[in-house]
Amino acid sequence: MTHPLLDFPPLTAERFASIERRVAELLSTRQDVVITQGEALLPLEGCIRSCARPGSTALNVVTGPYGTTFGNWLRDCGATVVDLEVPFDTAATAGQVAAALAGRPEIDFVSLVHAEAATGNTNPVAEIGEAVRAHGALFMLDAVASVGAEPLLPDAWGVDLCVIGAQKAMGGPAGVSAVSVSDRAWARFAENPAAPRRSYLSLLDWKERWIDGGRTALLHAPAQLEMLALEACLDRIAAEGLPVVEARHAAAAAATRAGAAAMGLAPYVGRVAEAAPVATTLRVADASLVAAKALAADPAAPLAAGGGALAKEMVRVNHYGRAASLPVVRSALGALAAALGVEAGPALGAADAAWEASPR
Ligand SMILES: *Cc1c(COP(=O)(O)O)cnc(C)c1O
Repeated sequence: MTHPLLDFPPLTAERFASIERRVAELLSTRQDVVITQGEALLPLEGCIRSCARPGSTALNVVTGPYGTTFGNWLRDCGATVVDLEVPFDTAATAGQVAAALAGRPEIDFVSLVHAEAATGNTNPVAEIGEAVRAHGALFMLDAVASVGAEPLLPDAWGVDLCVIGAQKAMGGPAGVSAVSVSDRAWARFAENPAAPRRSYLSLLDWKERWIDGGRTALLHAPAQLEMLALEACLDRIAAEGLPVVEARHAAAAAATRAGAAAMGLAPYVGRVAEAAPVATTLRVADASLVAAKALAADPAAPLAAGGGALAKEMVRVNHYGRAASLPVVRSALGALAAALGVEAGPALGAADAAWEASPR
């Protein structure tokens, strides 16, 4: 018996290459794109292990939990790491990055997360990219939580390594990811004797055996279901239009923020310009208990208490992918109102008004 998830003909190199081209279009990039066959931590770790080595120095901008992970990988590779930590309820500024780079010509790598789904903040990558370019360091951006939710222009912003995953605002599968790689980054990988080769973490393997070979022979059987799901997700974004998808996320964030304010909840990220469209974080006392009560009221509501120490003080409302919609935002606000024992009406009214007022 055939099964809808089984019995496909093998994914051809041609089809694989066409999906790769479409990811490059989504990112408006002219750089090489490698579609990595695993969740986005795979290319993130692959990029860091390809660049970093003893004797290299990295500036690691930490605006949430992923920055801490990057710092650990960088140190593990023997690099000297300068951590620029900013409070998780704000964004890093270009001025802070420029100041951290000043007087440290040995810094040859900068890692930054664009938007943080875990903490709900987003960083001004265009401006930070200018500071990084002026210094000359290689620039890696984790755009997993921003792609599809807000404008992302790696080439215009001077990003050498732009990592994306499909599982957030793109509404796609979690099991594949991608990275755009500049010529400068390829050159750096190639001259690094410690860069992974003949390894699942190796981006150079894809360069040498797939890209330089004219994209005719895949390195191994690709994750076929995920590749097909990625293609379907690119189709769906193309049908709606990327700017419309991004505007839907902005509207969901505005509606959530307005609804929360109407029930007396302050945003975790105070400044609107620093709040990520992918998820809205809110200051809530006893957040774990409130989230549990909200989920008891509506098990489908897309919310959770913050991770780690934030579990005491923050609730996160996820509104990405198909959940970037007014009904889903309303369900999250309704569940929060039930948990807090307040009337949902004013919050829902404020959310409706903000959604309507948001350009789409
Ligand atoms: C979601 C996300 C990832 C991917 O991590 P998961 O644990 O698979 O969700 C990576 N980076 C950022 C900034 C993210 O928000």
